[in-house]
Amino acid sequence: MSEIRYSLEKYKGRSTRYHCPKCHQRTFTRYVDTHTNKHLSDYAGRCNRVEKCAYHFTPKMYFEKNGYEPDDFNKPASKPKPIIKPPSCIDKKLMQASLTNYRQNNFAIGLTKYFPERIVMEVLQRYYVGSAKGNKTIFWQVNRLGQVRTGKVMQYNSATLKRVGYINWAHHITKQKNFNLKQVFFGAHLLVDKTRAVAIAEGEKNAIFGALYYPQYNWIAVGSIEMSHEINFYNNRSIFSEFHRMQLKV
Ligand SMILES: [Zn+2]
Repeated sequence: MSEIRYSLEKYKGRSTRYHCPKCHQRTFTRYVDTHTNKHLSDYAGRCNRVEKCAYHFTPKMYFEKNGYEPDDFNKPASKPKPIIKPPSCIDKKLMQASLTNYRQNNFAIGLTKYFPERIVMEVLQRYYVGSAKGNKTIFWQVNRLGQVRTGKVMQYNSATLKRVGYINWAHHITKQKNFNLKQVFFGAHLLVDKTRAVAIAEGEKNAIFGALYYPQYNWIAVGSIEMSHEINFYNNRSIFSEFHRMQLKV
């Protein structure tokens, strides 16, 4: 509830009543700024002779006549509103162009030892897993509107399918200025499809294994603790028709 900044001065004896600008009787109550305890103006107020005079000049009328101050009408001395910067996105064409070249992608090469190549390609394309320079793999994070928020770039050992080296990020590699990172779940773009139950995996690799073993689910990966609050959000929205959690060990 907002605080009323201007209110009619309380009666504290005759000195708090003034001559009405209209009927000139001493029956006039002025508006007071509750922050400064000063009168708004000698003509902003209400005549107590409601029937006979009916003069009422409100703070709103006062500001409409005189212009609003930055710190104005009907507001407590409030903090300035924070500027909410929209999340940054990466060009979708860049993501789409990476969904190829799986024979130079250690993760894809490793998967084809367990699954037919055609199935591996299909799943990687469906989950927006791309190929990056040096046989690396990009796990794109795309939201339900198809906006590419970033991509996690990782290197794998194709024989063991274990991750090697450091994680890099698509938004670092593309060097976009003032990038406002807002991560989404890997696989989040599949949440538009509400006909399939959603399953949650720990990490992108497990989500892909989940998708290969259990294609009846749409898999998403929870990458970090700070994103786990979003699970509740999705749950509340009843997007999960079934909650299925598993950790697959390779
Ligand atoms: Zn009057």
